[in-house]
Amino acid sequence: MMSSSAKDARALLKKHALSVTEGRLRILELFLRAGGALSHADVEKADTTFDRVTVYRTLQSFVEKGLLHTIPTSENNVRYALCNDACTTHRHQDDHVHFVCDVCRKTVCLDHVAVPALLLPAGFVSEQVQVVVHGVCDLCARPR
Ligand SMILES: [Zn+2]
Ligand SMILES: [Zn+2]
Ligand SMILES: [Zn+2]
Repeated sequence: MMSSSAKDARALLKKHALSVTEGRLRILELFLRAGGALSHADVEKADTTFDRVTVYRTLQSFVEKGLLHTIPTSENNVRYALCNDACTTHRHQDDHVHFVCDVCRKTVCLDHVAVPALLLPAGFVSEQVQVVVHGVCDLCARPR
């Protein structure tokens, strides 16, 4: 049996019905290594062999196929983070809180912190709730 904990870029692409290309593999591996969210610019900087359009298209297809979800940020600079296993094509289930560290600028998924239920006025139907918490992360909060 294959280990389910070993997240393999190739297997992830197949699972989400994406053909395996060199570019997709490399971009996905960046996310697997990052341990946090990356912006378009982060991806471009990390691998300068990609042009802007390739990065843009690859990120879009990952979002469409349930591989990455987007996180809105105050600087109008959307970040992308890996989804959990529950997400599929056009059906995301990323109802967790995101944390932005104002010191190191890192954005992380708090997978185990659920978005609080909101009591909306009658007639309002919620489709998606995004909670972004700003503050100081565990690493930056440590006294030096
Ligand atoms: Zn998702
Ligand atoms: Zn930090
Ligand atoms: Zn997330």
